[in-house]
Amino acid sequence: MDREYTEDHRLLVDAVRDYARAELVEPDREWDRNEASCCSALDRLYEQGLMSLRIPESQGGLDCPMVAYGHIVRELAWASPSVAVTVSVHNMVAEALKTYAADAIRADTLSRLAQAGNLAAFAISEPNAGSDPGSITTRATRVDGGYRLTGTKMWVTNGLRGRWFIVLARLGEGLADSDLCMFLMDAEQAGVKRNPIHGKMGIRGSETAEMALEDVFIPDTHLLGEPGWGLRIALSALDGGRIGIASQALGIASAALDLMTDYAQQREQFRRPIARFQAIQWMLADSRTELDAAQQLVDRAAWLKDHDRPFTREAAMAKLYASEAAGRIVDRGVQVHGGYGYVHEFRIEQLYRDARITRLYEGTSEIQRHVIARELLRAE
Ligand SMILES: Cc1cc2nc3c(=O)[nH]c(=O)nc-3n(C[C@H](O)[C@H](O)[C@H](O)COP(=O)(O)OP(=O)(O)OC[C@H]3O[C@@H](n4cnc5c(N)ncnc54)[C@H](O)[C@@H]3O)c2cc1C
Repeated sequence: MDREYTEDHRLLVDAVRDYARAELVEPDREWDRNEASCCSALDRLYEQGLMSLRIPESQGGLDCPMVAYGHIVRELAWASPSVAVTVSVHNMVAEALKTYAADAIRADTLSRLAQAGNLAAFAISEPNAGSDPGSITTRATRVDGGYRLTGTKMWVTNGLRGRWFIVLARLGEGLADSDLCMFLMDAEQAGVKRNPIHGKMGIRGSETAEMALEDVFIPDTHLLGEPGWGLRIALSALDGGRIGIASQALGIASAALDLMTDYAQQREQFRRPIARFQAIQWMLADSRTELDAAQQLVDRAAWLKDHDRPFTREAAMAKLYASEAAGRIVDRGVQVHGGYGYVHEFRIEQLYRDARITRLYEGTSEIQRHVIARELLRAE
């Protein structure tokens, strides 16, 4: 499917690979060690168009097709899984706005998102609502000229420095899914309080926040789609987002495979490189095979999306398989490194921790299986 790349997209993926490997690997190690935000790299990311990959050219974006976009996220994740998710979430929100924002604000909002200072975030989860977004309790109340939102959002990626949030809330007192609405919220206003969530196992450079919303004003024009479309917008954004997270998993796994391949050739035991042992070779062979299989699944989902074909099931399969394969590959990576794989000093230890999140966010593996089975049963 990457044969469908234009020369421009190939050059872009190559340029991102060069940039990420030269400029992100060492900072990412620091962000991990100090739990410091990778948003210090944002200006460079904007400069290179990475924050506007999925924004139309007419609004200052690169309008990058999904197949090439997935490869770019993979290249970022190879060097910095934290930067990869920052970029992926921002572009996922841009895409939701492209599809669902009101005509009156769409062009202006997308142009802003392509410019520095306008990081975007996606606020669905709450302390008591994760896999089941239909159980959120954040309330939207109708007021003159718009709505007021009150509630608590949890685990918001890009939540500390983000300016534009799409927020799922329940309109009025209703408890049905049809009472859910999605709003575009400008976080620079009174009533929005954000607290960092510290102590993450991995992707420690990615900002994660808890947010308290108190009577936050949303103008009428900032309702996305129609009233009652909240869940539909959340799920459709996640379909595309899962291609991003699957690509993040591919990048992490691919870095792990590169590290273990090098290490296996350098490390000697029994007077020969450990790469000569069949047990090690099989770990490399299984990892390469799973990585390529995962890439095919991700490319297929992305290709379907590029061609406006249904891709919900394929995106869930790609995310499920790529994230679980990444878990197996980083685990083998540690094994190949022996005891050295168990200490911070060796990057494989960080990748082992970073990979774990890909089986959790934007839908756990259990939820991906649920989506795949639901789509299968519906088709029969
Ligand atoms: C670092 C990080 C960043 C995140 N970023 C964002 C973000 O930007 N925006 C956002 O809205 N959310 C974000 N999340 C939240 C994330 O999407 C949720 O954590 C995830 O969807 C799981 O929800 P939960 O943690 O509430 O677990 P729960 O839903 O409580 O699940 C607990 C366990 O039960 C299982 N389970 C639940 N329901 C079922 C079922 N029907 N069948 C089988 N098993 C089931 C789950 O698979 C899991 O194993 C982030 C989370 C983390 C950790």
